[in-house]
Amino acid sequence: MTNALAPYRRLTIKIGSATIVDSATGKLRTEWLMALAEDLASLKAEGRSLVVVSSGAIALGRRLLGLDAVNLSLEQQQAAASAGQIALSQAWADCLGRHGIVAGQILITPNITEERRYFLNARTTISTLLDLGAIPIINENDSVATAEIKYGDNDRLSARVATMIEADALILLSDVDGLYTAPPGRDPGARHLAVVAAITPEIEAMAGGAASHLSKGGMTTKIEAGKIATQAGTAMIIARGTDLHPLRALTEGGTHTLFAAAESRAQARKRWIMGTLDLAGQIHVDAGAARALLSGKSLLPIGVTRVKGEFVRGDAVAILDPDGREIARGLVGLDRDEAELVKGKNSARVAEMLGLGARAELVHRDNLVVLTGMDAKAL
Ligand code: GLU
Repeated sequence: MTNALAPYRRLTIKIGSATIVDSATGKLRTEWLMALAEDLASLKAEGRSLVVVSSGAIALGRRLLGLDAVNLSLEQQQAAASAGQIALSQAWADCLGRHGIVAGQILITPNITEERRYFLNARTTISTLLDLGAIPIINENDSVATAEIKYGDNDRLSARVATMIEADALILLSDVDGLYTAPPGRDPGARHLAVVAAITPEIEAMAGGAASHLSKGGMTTKIEAGKIATQAGTAMIIARGTDLHPLRALTEGGTHTLFAAAESRAQARKRWIMGTLDLAGQIHVDAGAARALLSGKSLLPIGVTRVKGEFVRGDAVAILDPDGREIARGLVGLDRDEAELVKGKNSARVAEMLGLGARAELVHRDNLVVLTGMDAKAL
């Protein structure tokens, strides 16, 4: 009996509409949700950080508003999401509350995961909730997102969330137990795959388009999610979530498909920062700060001698040593005006000037890539 979740500490768990809402009645599957909350509570008690991406708002809201057409218009879907989200969040707060766990709700739109400033804020909120022992419950903000700027399915949304918080694994709980060599409903010879080492064109071809009538995604969006996750160093698991205790089942050898992570998250982040072409500014540092950076430390305002460019928090900047050589690149934690204000000041003074809770680093070491001789040559 292998525990499929044993290697992972930080998990993003995506709950599909077909697991949380009864397709026949349109009602919440309360017993199922209670069982899932038990699973989440025990994973959390083992020291894991958990972030849930929960679908179900539209499916719940359509019943609440008496919308029973099979295909809802965009406006009806947005109204359904608005009414259903209240019920969905309440259900999460109740079921986790029974275990003494607080649920936090975050509704996001694609720009939040794509634009660095929003991205950093959302990530900070999620990690603050995690530090406080809560479980963030995330969904797309369907009531305001328009068709063109919408994920539309929570498979890809959850993959973005997983990479945003650097989850070790993304678990997609839906009505399928993994990837088959062909759509199992149509092809009796279809074989279940336990592990996918890399998402090749052959693997993509195995995904049929079928989805249940409640959910937006199908195997195709799950494979898309797999590409986003694995390329950023997050493994992905697809498992059937419809039975009671779907996460416990995974710890007890339950059937699933594992998509292996392509590279470590640190490597992926480094590649992403190195790949940023539009550097928004330059930060000149003194010799002490240059040495600190080379030894893996964060960049503190005290070591900054000059600030150039029009950057805002989250932008990529070049960091230059006293000889004007670029020694590192990083994502800056302050806007240009703030950086200008605090340059050369010690951390206590910075906190005083920018207010309590202001992060003392100008560039945190997690957001920093020191250029080795080789990287520098490649530029
Ligand atoms: N965000 C949608 C909802 O909560 C679900 C999208 C999906 O099924 O992937 O109803």
